[in-house]
Amino acid sequence: MSDKPKIAIYWCSSCGGCEEAVVDLNEAILDVVDAVDIVFWPVAMDFKYEDVRKLKDGELLASFINGGIRLSEQEEIVKLLREKSQLVFAFGSCAVMGGVPGLANMTDREGIFTRVYKEIESNDNPENRVPETETKLDGKYDLELPEFYDSVYPLDQIIPVDYYIPGCAPSPETITDAFTAILEGKLPEKGSVLSPTKSLCDTCPRKDSKPDKIEIERFVEPHRYDKLDDGRCFLEAGIICMGPATRGGCGERCINANMPCRGCYGPPNNVKDQGVRMMSALSSLIKTDEEKEIPKVIETLPDLIGPLYMYGLPSSILFRKKIK
Ligand code: SF4
Ligand code: SF4
Repeated sequence: MSDKPKIAIYWCSSCGGCEEAVVDLNEAILDVVDAVDIVFWPVAMDFKYEDVRKLKDGELLASFINGGIRLSEQEEIVKLLREKSQLVFAFGSCAVMGGVPGLANMTDREGIFTRVYKEIESNDNPENRVPETETKLDGKYDLELPEFYDSVYPLDQIIPVDYYIPGCAPSPETITDAFTAILEGKLPEKGSVLSPTKSLCDTCPRKDSKPDKIEIERFVEPHRYDKLDDGRCFLEAGIICMGPATRGGCGERCINANMPCRGCYGPPNNVKDQGVRMMSALSSLIKTDEEKEIPKVIETLPDLIGPLYMYGLPSSILFRKKIK
């Protein structure tokens, strides 16, 4: 039997982009496959949960888990992987912070089921059935489904996490650097985010156009602004760019595509709540001498949660909207 270190890759509540990011390593993935045995990667090959249950505790060098936790099945398997792994990596924005699926914490299970299974115009569901954990067919429990939770949780709210690999999806450089650090035994202290600590603004190609004092009179949504490619700092144009509240390391991917940063790499080390940090930054940029004018400027922004918490609502101090 091979004596290469064993690793697992698992997918919870996410879009699958993180899995593709591993494949996007191109030929570098051959180095990874050469150095380790991937013993569990359900999205790529037909592994079974039973394969993991048979492993000894700690037999896996590392598990890379992407996606937040929304289902009881996901909770069960990440707890199993935690037992079997020496190291657990939260891989990608959804595992690190809840991610885009975490915006569903603005509603709850009932709200989602009502919209998806009862209200959507194209539905054909005359009995208004919604998924149940147990469904009786022929008088027996014939069909079991995992429980769908009211909220999406970042991975570290369910199991202890050793390291965080941020990004939606993590860039090939971020992934390669993480794998190199693991294989060369050069990981930083546990709990670290494996990406630079500086903010994105520090490395942004538009940073030189950022004036010393930005004054925002009204906010503009990117799709209503016809000069996205003018090279100007987005914030200066009144477009919310999460650069000041986001750690660097992504290669400034959105900025280079003439789009503002949405914050997928999460907050820098010294920031607990990315949205609050951004709100505080924006408050100091609003141009007005009259306090009562401030709400009028904020009203030019149709939505605050989307831009400020696109990736991090479940890991924020808010966690979710209070429904009842
Ligand atoms: S706010 Fe955005 S566009 Fe402006 S310097 Fe920072 S990252 Fe670049
Ligand atoms: S620019 Fe911002 S949103 Fe885009 S990849 Fe980088 S950190 Fe993520």
